[in-house]
Amino acid sequence: MAPSETPFAEACIKCDGLCCKGPIFVSLCDIARLRAAGIAATIKSDGAFRTLALRQGRCQFLERDGCALPRSVRPLDCRVFPVVFVADSTTRFFLSEKCPFLSSIPSSWVDTQRAVVLDEISQWATEDVSAYSGHIRAALAQGLLRPLK
Ligand code: SF4
Repeated sequence: MAPSETPFAEACIKCDGLCCKGPIFVSLCDIARLRAAGIAATIKSDGAFRTLALRQGRCQFLERDGCALPRSVRPLDCRVFPVVFVADSTTRFFLSEKCPFLSSIPSSWVDTQRAVVLDEISQWATEDVSAYSGHIRAALAQGLLRPLK
């Protein structure tokens, strides 16, 4: 992430982009936003589960000083991390234990990201909601997520 754009900047700088070194889900909305901005992204697909391709284990957009993309065109998965979600009949939210600085994150920021998610996934294709939610369910089964009330 770009540390200067989060309320937990100090923690992000120390982390060196741990959250940018694993699968980052890319919805059709994310792809359209990148295309509209004229940004070419290499996407890896496994059925409806699409991710930003990694280069040497790092996101293709991760540079020495953080993300090369303007925040407004980053995939939702990036913008709201470490908030993640499963959307069934209701949407359940979690924090990813992958982030080593969960205790530094203000609850007000988390609440804002929930609203961002609900607004954005209302525009997602059903297949995208299913593919993303399946990925998060798998992480949940592995004990990698902390439920949010
Ligand atoms: S797009 Fe940016 S924030 Fe998202 S994983 Fe890549 S480097 Fe990180």
